[in-house]
Amino acid sequence: MKIKLKFLGAAQNVTGSRHFFEANGVKVLVDCGIYQERQFKERNWDPFPIPPADIDAVLLTHAHLDHCGLLPKLVKEGFKGRIYCTEATADIAKIILLDSAKIQEEDAEHKRKRHEKEGRKVKHPEIPLYTIEDAESCFPLFSPVEYRKSVDIGDGVEVTFYDAGHVLGSSIIRAKVRQDGQERIILFSGDIGRPDRPIVCDPTVFDAADYVFIESTYGDRVHHDTEDIKKLIGEVINSTRKAGGNIIVPSFALERSQEVLYYINELMLEKTIEPLKIFLDSPMASRITEVFKHHPELFDEEMTEFVNNHESPFKIPGLSMTGTADESKAINNARGTIMVIAGSGMCTGGRVKYHLVNNITRPECTIMFVGYQAIGTLGRSIVDGIEKVRILGVKRPVKAKIVRIHGFSAHADKEELLGWLKGLEKPPRQVFVVHGESESAKHFGEYVKEQTGWEVTVPAYQDELVVD
Ligand SMILES: [Zn+2]
Repeated sequence: MKIKLKFLGAAQNVTGSRHFFEANGVKVLVDCGIYQERQFKERNWDPFPIPPADIDAVLLTHAHLDHCGLLPKLVKEGFKGRIYCTEATADIAKIILLDSAKIQEEDAEHKRKRHEKEGRKVKHPEIPLYTIEDAESCFPLFSPVEYRKSVDIGDGVEVTFYDAGHVLGSSIIRAKVRQDGQERIILFSGDIGRPDRPIVCDPTVFDAADYVFIESTYGDRVHHDTEDIKKLIGEVINSTRKAGGNIIVPSFALERSQEVLYYINELMLEKTIEPLKIFLDSPMASRITEVFKHHPELFDEEMTEFVNNHESPFKIPGLSMTGTADESKAINNARGTIMVIAGSGMCTGGRVKYHLVNNITRPECTIMFVGYQAIGTLGRSIVDGIEKVRILGVKRPVKAKIVRIHGFSAHADKEELLGWLKGLEKPPRQVFVVHGESESAKHFGEYVKEQTGWEVTVPAYQDELVVD
């Protein structure tokens, strides 16, 4: 048995997920993510370490950009095979890739103008990493697969997708390699969700594998589950209404926005809150919400029951999904307490900035954060308690109430990751810890070794090895 493995991204860092394996001459790339961490962004411009035309297939775990965001570049540079993923992942990835391409194009144009004005010569030409056209050229390659149905991708390599419970359509991928009468199983965890989250199912657990690639985003942390998310959201809505202000929710378009809506609908049905005008002011989140509506087969038991009893939790009285910029501006004219859910999730761009401008200086309003805020972002400055904040070029005093709701994570924590691994009844030949910052990945690697005595490696970027 001879399987070649190569670690092409998310190796001692979180973004740019790309893992490669070759068996029986079949070359497979698992995920093709973009690097989003500032110190690694340069790598997005490097030529692929493996010629794209030589790769036979891409297996895509889910639609987050750090897993799918470089597909247009791969295709532009010669990849012609199939991109296997669930139908929901393909639907969402198309929306996300088009949005990403649009941002790439706008950024390049913006930079070009700025450099021209400054008379500056730069290392990279001001061209987009890929264009809308490049993104669209990936679409015909998407080949939808169903959960738990094996797909033969040639020469003794068979792959099966299982629900990862991370975002809608997300998968853990099991690759089975047959060679010389022997068989090996490689598991690619993708991003692993948490048990008991709304909408999506719990992550699938496996009892056997020879090699395991496991994420470690929260490999050194344990989530505190004391927060009752729904109750907190209800309190924010009721107290802000009493104060006579608005609620602004900076939110990620995929999963988080839909989860917030799910909780609000429950609060309304329970009559914990009075009916409320809600604006989902993100064309991307609205489009993704439509994808959710088309895939009820992926909902967990609770959500299925909910849909059976009350229709879709995204059909809330008072909910408007705004499309055009004019519709977005018109939100300012709404009377009474309103909630605006808008991107970007960390306030680095998008329509949420305009809503912050209109509300952050008013003490009766609340800014409710429901997602992770990375260092260096506007969202992070606000949650850190900055007194005056620059938004759209003007410094403004932060007078609104700032609330942070922590319990929303879509990633399993250290104990949950270990619990997932422990589903394996026999020690795997080797565990590879990926998709975590260096500290987190190493900590988790040590922890798994300590707890199980298994063979664990924390690979570095571009590491390669042949396993048997
Ligand atoms: Zn993810």
